Amino acid sequence: MQKTSENFDVVIGGGGIVGLTLAVALKSALGRGASVLVCDPDIARPDGNVWRATAIAAGPRKMLQTLGVWDALADIQPITKMLCTDSRLADPIRPVFLRFEPPRPGEYFAHMVFNAQVRDALKIRAVALGVDVRELSIADFTADADKTDVTLTDAARLSARLLVAADGVNSKLRDKARIRINRRDYDQAGIVATIAHERPHDGTAEEHFLPDGPFAILPLTHNRSSIVWSDKRPNVANLLARDDADFMDELTRRFSLRFGDFNVLDRPTSFPLRMQYARDYVARRFALIGDSAHVIHPIAGQGLNLGLKDAAVLAEMIVDQMRLGLDPGTSAVLTAYQRARRFDALSMGAAADSMYRLFSNDILPVRLIRDLGLGLVDRAPPLKNLLIKEASALLGSVPALLRGDAL
Ligand SMILES: Cc1cc2nc3c(=O)[nH]c(=O)nc-3n(C[C@H](O)[C@H](O)[C@H](O)COP(=O)(O)OP(=O)(O)OC[C@H]3O[C@@H](n4cnc5c(N)ncnc54)[C@H](O)[C@@H]3O)c2cc1C
Repeated sequence: MQKTSENFDVVIGGGGIVGLTLAVALKSALGRGASVLVCDPDIARPDGNVWRATAIAAGPRKMLQTLGVWDALADIQPITKMLCTDSRLADPIRPVFLRFEPPRPGEYFAHMVFNAQVRDALKIRAVALGVDVRELSIADFTADADKTDVTLTDAARLSARLLVAADGVNSKLRDKARIRINRRDYDQAGIVATIAHERPHDGTAEEHFLPDGPFAILPLTHNRSSIVWSDKRPNVANLLARDDADFMDELTRRFSLRFGDFNVLDRPTSFPLRMQYARDYVARRFALIGDSAHVIHPIAGQGLNLGLKDAAVLAEMIVDQMRLGLDPGTSAVLTAYQRARRFDALSMGAAADSMYRLFSNDILPVRLIRDLGLGLVDRAPPLKNLLIKEASALLGSVPALLRGDAL
């Protein structure tokens, strides 16, 4: 048998945005004082959909800025205002029930960015900082009291003091660690597409609550918008099977008239929607971050933001340990990480689930109550500010990186 030849402090399985952010945070703080490896079989492959975009909340944005990644992004669109409506598809007008504006000019609660640009900037930063990035998967691992022995798919064997799974919703590493999940599939799927339109959006994001699912229009740079169109699964399958003209007809019924003429820039793709939680976030010398730990309904646009908060919290705990010359993979560190993150992710998922239940229906009494509720929230600035803080990932205990402080 080949002998273990390389020792790492932290090995990260999964080089998506969350896994790479953790790697960059660790190396930015510890430099040569920490050895970090990221393995991802798709790390060198360009992202399939260069248009896929995400709303990054204020806290995670500060972290990416502190880590020297934000300023490398070519297309950053602040969300200057958010409008919510509640209507049926056939209604001639969609009255606005709730609007959010930044608490102070220039203090945006979120920005829209392209995922591929964020991932590329993180990859470049990681390599510049000395993160070992390999285009491989983790084939197997076994943990003992002092370390985890890891085998890569090229048969290389190495050891890590901590193995972190950032390998997404269908995490194989989570399965190998025998961590079970709770999962509920929604009856909806989400279509994402990028639209170029004639008139400007002025940075306004719109969320139209329709009976079959929310339809979000999120502003991108240069008169472009990203749509996240949640609808019943059979409707989505049917929509994507239709020809382009039929798809455009359905889109036109939902897309705002205020944008003038528009066309779709990419091939619309769909994602089945689910709520999923790992029952444990940690095992011996092992931790889950990002979608491997939790997946929530995209209605509030918070999935990636939760994952980035995991990375910020875990990075801070590992850095604190290692600066004292201590082991980053002890059960004390991992228990503290689980305690800090599991409840937060559960409560955000529960909030997104409640929004899904409350809004994805056409039951008249429920509509009346929710519209009354939206109207009340709209007239209550302190409550609105609280919601903005929550959506900015700046409520409760905020890790240093999300406050914009370096570790
Ligand atoms: C329709 C839709 C809209 C959304 N909109 C938003 C939004 O506006 N804001 C927001 O915050 N969130 C949003 N989300 C959620 C967000 O997209 C995810 O939470 C986020 O992409 C998860 O990032 P991740 O790095 O954890 O996982 P992923 O992006 O899935 O990355 C996992 C990585 O692991 C790698 N990998 C897989 N298997 C292995 C293996 N065996 N070994 C090594 N590597 C492996 C993969 O190649 C990949 O690079 C949305 C989700 C959907 C479905």
